[in-house]
Amino acid sequence: MSITQLDKEYVAGTYGRFPVELKNGKGALVYDTDGKEYIDLGTGIAVNAFGYADDEWISAVTKQLGALQHTSNLFYSEPCAKLAQLLCEKTGMKKVFFSNSGAEANECAIKTARRYSFLKYGEGRSTIVTLKNSFHGRTITTLAATGQDIFHTEFGPFTEGFVYAEANNTADVISLVKKHNCCAVMMEPVQGEGGVMKLDDTFVKEVYDFCNANDVLLIFDEVQTGNGRTGSLYAYQQFGITPDIVSTAKGLGGGLPIGATMLGKKVEDTLTPGSHGSTFGGNPVACAGAYSIISRIDEELLAGVRSKSEYIFKELGSAEGIKSVSGMGLMIGLETEKDAKEVVAACREKGVLVLTAKTKVRLLPPLNIPDELLSKAVDIIKECVK
Ligand SMILES: *Cc1c(COP(=O)(O)O)cnc(C)c1O
Repeated sequence: MSITQLDKEYVAGTYGRFPVELKNGKGALVYDTDGKEYIDLGTGIAVNAFGYADDEWISAVTKQLGALQHTSNLFYSEPCAKLAQLLCEKTGMKKVFFSNSGAEANECAIKTARRYSFLKYGEGRSTIVTLKNSFHGRTITTLAATGQDIFHTEFGPFTEGFVYAEANNTADVISLVKKHNCCAVMMEPVQGEGGVMKLDDTFVKEVYDFCNANDVLLIFDEVQTGNGRTGSLYAYQQFGITPDIVSTAKGLGGGLPIGATMLGKKVEDTLTPGSHGSTFGGNPVACAGAYSIISRIDEELLAGVRSKSEYIFKELGSAEGIKSVSGMGLMIGLETEKDAKEVVAACREKGVLVLTAKTKVRLLPPLNIPDELLSKAVDIIKECVK
């Protein structure tokens, strides 16, 4: 049986896969089993931050693999402690809880917010405001947090305690917080799965001020926007605010599964021994890989992300067949005249891998994609959208 047939026979059918089997890659280039070359502007959905087979990352990961692959959280471990230190020093957050995925990072954020409020105010202050059109994950609780009705069928009963505000509508957020006696507001700075929609700066600032004044925690879901993707280490840094809790995953491990929930001053001691945990969380190999990624996301790399972003906005903003370009940094959505799925297929035929987000074409290139490859890929996209 071919791999396609084996997959269809034995792997749970949760994914609509492209008709391609990828085999190996280097940097922004990846090859399928027929040896066809692609420029990858998807990075496995914003995961392979420095592309495929990055030398420094491989060396960090393999060095750790040869020492200890896992210890359990009953022991101290250097990669975990050092990564937490690096994240806190670079962000000003105070403590980090490690897990293995974005959904789990959000679960921890939700548990932390509820516990903070419970310990301070008692029962009845546990509801969280999230935004319509958001995406927070696939577990029963993070599906409930996701503000899209389409995710709220078939798997009920869902976790209680989420209400949904209109994005960019401060009055709606405030009235929901008051009405439901909420403990937190949770949002993605750029709604990724929802169509690469950046939130308005004034909205974020107003919600931040309101939350601050009312001891309502502000949670930023930076699972997709984090780790350099938007042109700053975390996107919140460009909104001029500091959330109480920041969750991240995707690009953090450079391709290995890791989630992180960063806790600010207010909630740094909310989680105590036994209140939360994870068998694999803080895995030394994943942490060593993440350390190699985060330590290299410096001002120079971020300036590169911003200039590559400007180039894409400029080139595709004026391209025939593109109605609008949205997003931030190297997290970009294209509203195309043609159906997005058709554009994705046409690009793939011509050797460029791109994704969709709702009705848009989505670009999530490696943060360090060489300019020549980016311009080659942009030219191919231009041909495919006309
Ligand atoms: C991908 C994503 C998640 C879920 O992450 P998983 O690792 O698939 O659990 C949550 N929030 C946002 C904003 C995401 O983009």
